[in-house]
Amino acid sequence: MLANDLRKDYILDRWVVIASQRRRRPTDYAKGQSEERKPSICPFCPGNEHLTPPASLIYIVENGKIGKTRDNDGARRKDWIIRCIPNLYPAFSPPTAAMENQKDNSSLHFSHKHVHYVRMEAHGHHEVLIESPDHDEHPSVARLPQLIQVINALKDRATYFMQKEYVRYISIFRNHGASAGASLSHTHLQIIATPIIPKIVGEELDASRKFYAETGRCVFCEIINRESASERLIWTNGDFTVFTPWASINPFEFWMFPKRHQTTILELTDDEVKGLAEAIRVSLGGLKRLLNDPPYNLGFHMIPDEKYHWHIEVYPKLAIWAGFEKSTGMYINTVSPEEAAESLRETFKIEEENLKSIQ
Ligand SMILES: [Zn+2]
Ligand SMILES: [Zn+2]
Ligand SMILES: [Zn+2]
Repeated sequence: MLANDLRKDYILDRWVVIASQRRRRPTDYAKGQSEERKPSICPFCPGNEHLTPPASLIYIVENGKIGKTRDNDGARRKDWIIRCIPNLYPAFSPPTAAMENQKDNSSLHFSHKHVHYVRMEAHGHHEVLIESPDHDEHPSVARLPQLIQVINALKDRATYFMQKEYVRYISIFRNHGASAGASLSHTHLQIIATPIIPKIVGEELDASRKFYAETGRCVFCEIINRESASERLIWTNGDFTVFTPWASINPFEFWMFPKRHQTTILELTDDEVKGLAEAIRVSLGGLKRLLNDPPYNLGFHMIPDEKYHWHIEVYPKLAIWAGFEKSTGMYINTVSPEEAAESLRETFKIEEENLKSIQ
């Protein structure tokens, strides 16, 4: 498959993938914001594996233990509990062996009368992680042992992508609800490995390096300490802290940090994986309970740099960003993070108690 074009704005540090293969899906444009329903044939449900590309990673249960395998020779296994597959319409795709040997993929600048046109190959990976064979086992209601395996599978795929020489960043994200961009309602995450560090995490990294140089400390550890004693703290367990950020741009936005300083999810111990599963279950369960299962997006921010501290940001989609936000990159949030934290604290507490009662 030919790589897509990855293009940079004339002046801004803003890149876009020109994904023309995606044009093959006209229904994407016609669909609008209609309510999603469970499709009559869900390609992610067990039994329909032939509707997807062969899996790059499968978790199965063998003699009571987790086993790992993949689809081979065009066959599809049906006894999986977690399944990772390449996206059918990838925004980023790996270089062919020939391309990999041939040339590096540094960005090319060429100018027409001093206006710069910058491009590179959109090399990388784009995968879907199907979080459960059960269509509706979203993290807000998931069993903890299942969520633990979801996190372990993310670690496995991130480990694999990080070894690729053309990969600079790994984005893990989740779209929930049709209006937040989920085209299929079966519970799933996406993983996109890119050849550049995206703007937002790049800015976070620059700021944390600067803070480190000035103080010798991690700016994120400092933020976690401050917010643990603030009115924006929502919930905490032994390993994770969840709070609404000081300048959240989305109503009811919250962030989730490991308490121990660590740069990516690859550093999570088995105990911390359990702690993260609980934090995700309680947080997304609490969000669902408070706002009647709102659409949301979430993203992991992680960079293997000792001055960085990985975290998850959750953005409920309750406001519509329009002319002002789109044209300025400035936002208006009508719910203060302090008010949001107060409401979220109550429903997180209920979810935590419910979770304890079923354990
Ligand atoms: Zn399904
Ligand atoms: Zn830190
Ligand atoms: Zn971040």
